[in-house]
Amino acid sequence: MASAKYFHDDHAEHILQAKFGTRAIHAGQHPDPVTGAVIPPLSLSTTFKQHSAGEHNGFDYSRSGNPSRHAFETAVAALEGAKYGLAFSSGSATTATIVSSLPAGSHIVSVNDVYGGTYRYFTKVASVLGVEVTFVDLADAANVASVIRPNTKLVWVETPTNPTLRLVDIKAVAEIAHKHNTKLVVDNTFMSPFFQNPLSLGADIVVHSVTKYINGHSDVVMGVAVTSNEEIYTKLAFLQNSIGAVPSAFDCFLANRGLKTLHLRMRQHALSAQAIAEALEASPRVENVIYPGLPSHPQHDLAKRQQKGFGGMISFRIKGDLATANAFLRHVKFFTLAESLGGVESLCELPATMTHGSVSAEDRATLGITENLIRLSVGIEDTEDLVADVLAALEAAVKL
Ligand SMILES: *Cc1c(COP(=O)(O)O)cnc(C)c1O
Repeated sequence: MASAKYFHDDHAEHILQAKFGTRAIHAGQHPDPVTGAVIPPLSLSTTFKQHSAGEHNGFDYSRSGNPSRHAFETAVAALEGAKYGLAFSSGSATTATIVSSLPAGSHIVSVNDVYGGTYRYFTKVASVLGVEVTFVDLADAANVASVIRPNTKLVWVETPTNPTLRLVDIKAVAEIAHKHNTKLVVDNTFMSPFFQNPLSLGADIVVHSVTKYINGHSDVVMGVAVTSNEEIYTKLAFLQNSIGAVPSAFDCFLANRGLKTLHLRMRQHALSAQAIAEALEASPRVENVIYPGLPSHPQHDLAKRQQKGFGGMISFRIKGDLATANAFLRHVKFFTLAESLGGVESLCELPATMTHGSVSAEDRATLGITENLIRLSVGIEDTEDLVADVLAALEAAVKL
């Protein structure tokens, strides 16, 4: 584990007290003490010279701690208002490591439309490890209380959910979880630290798929967990080293570069998403639009209260069927038909046959993942081009 010896001003008050963009640029970033390089160099070495046996500058072996990883972990922690950050080789490895911290016989309560990979891990892997998971609709936070058991160790929440952008009241769930002596984990991938900080609402751990908004350039697969609870941090740091699902120094370097523009990107993602959502809602070729920034969203008030913005993800039902949806996806010019989200480039996809193709038809029906439901990850191209692209593709796909 990296000690504070080398990075003596990691938690400098003037950085932690600064606004988001300032923290994004400065937290964890130190000019190289030898060369003066302003950008901390990419640290590829797997091992670190010791002054005398067991005495070193805070790093001994790169799985246990690496300067590029440490810089990234410090930066994300500062953006989430957390004391500690731990990076992993993917968002999924982050989930797996957190579940590994639970003793066999533990129970987890999870929101029902959790990320597909998390659902797969909970049902196919955690169950084998002796950890049972109950899925519950958390549109009403009070539902948590009815499924919590004496052995419930974690409540796992994602908000907004994917792809139907349902919100969960983090503060209300945290209060119930804590009353039952249970910890709350929030997957904050969709909002990024710029638009939502679950620790300030009572969550104990926040996780991100860095692959999405934090890196933001669709060229790194990585995950991160942050917490201000020292006991949780110590346990997860031990498992990060013991299990070893750590990201490469190169990926940490890239993701750290990405997060320096997170605030600029998120503002633009949200600006364009709002404009596109409004244009879609006004179109006679659209059945309905799901975007937390629209007053028509059933939880618009909660979104305004709990989030600092509405994000860059939109789902909408095109007027028509699977063929109509496919025609739209073929006609857009600036939205690439692909899975994933959160990059600078706009993406579109059909959840029913792509990201949520492995969800049973019955569960898809329950969750509202119909064959005419299209998900957009709005990039940071110029707003007018994106709005025009969506409207033109609608016109080509839906004959009135
Ligand atoms: C992508 C994603 C994950 C998984 O992250 P990977 O980096 O792909 O392993 C977890 N949660 C959410 C909400 C995601 O979008």
